[in-house]
Amino acid sequence: MRLLSIALVHHPVKDARGETVTSTLTTMDVHDCARSARTFGCEAFYIVHPIPAQQALAHRIVEHWTHGSSAKRIPDRKEALATVRVVASIEEARAASARGSEAAEVWVTAARSLSHARTMDWAVARSALHADGPPVLLLFGTSWGLSDDVVASASVLLEPIRGAGPWNHLSVRAACAIALDRLVAVDSRR
Ligand code: SAM
Repeated sequence: MRLLSIALVHHPVKDARGETVTSTLTTMDVHDCARSARTFGCEAFYIVHPIPAQQALAHRIVEHWTHGSSAKRIPDRKEALATVRVVASIEEARAASARGSEAAEVWVTAARSLSHARTMDWAVARSALHADGPPVLLLFGTSWGLSDDVVASASVLLEPIRGAGPWNHLSVRAACAIALDRLVAVDSRR
């Protein structure tokens, strides 16, 4: 399988009006997405945030759970938080997830169907990930989703995870776990 990293993007993301904003870090996102990243063998979990104070908060969370009192209390969680890399931009995450001269391919996710030059369903994306190719950096948004520019500039847009009907407002934590299961898990249904 190709190297796979995930990124939780706090800028540029959209607000309810579709404006480009910067969202606030949510502690639960850090823990839950790190646990999913570790469970599904991701190379790294990038927290993308341009604001130094928010980067410092992310570093404090990681430090506490990898070297602080909670690392001693819950050693398993230490392995999950150790996947976290705090970066200021998507470009920084992409550069860090390259391997040698192979730049990472950026894949993006969204809760709604968006137009894109290369949209993939989950089965095709899973096959592409399990074939040969450059590393994959899978982006998840916050707030009301990744900005239109980020989606448009990505190599691949994954189709939305669909539920039982039109209501579709998964948390990014849930979407991250479902996406990684579909892309990586050894499918017991086969
Ligand atoms: N309305 C936003 C959108 O269209 O993406 C939902 C934002 S949600 C709070 C944060 C992120 O979780 C999204 O940017 C996307 O990365 C992921 N996400 C949420 N629901 C999803 C779904 N049904 N399919 C794929 N990704 C989803």
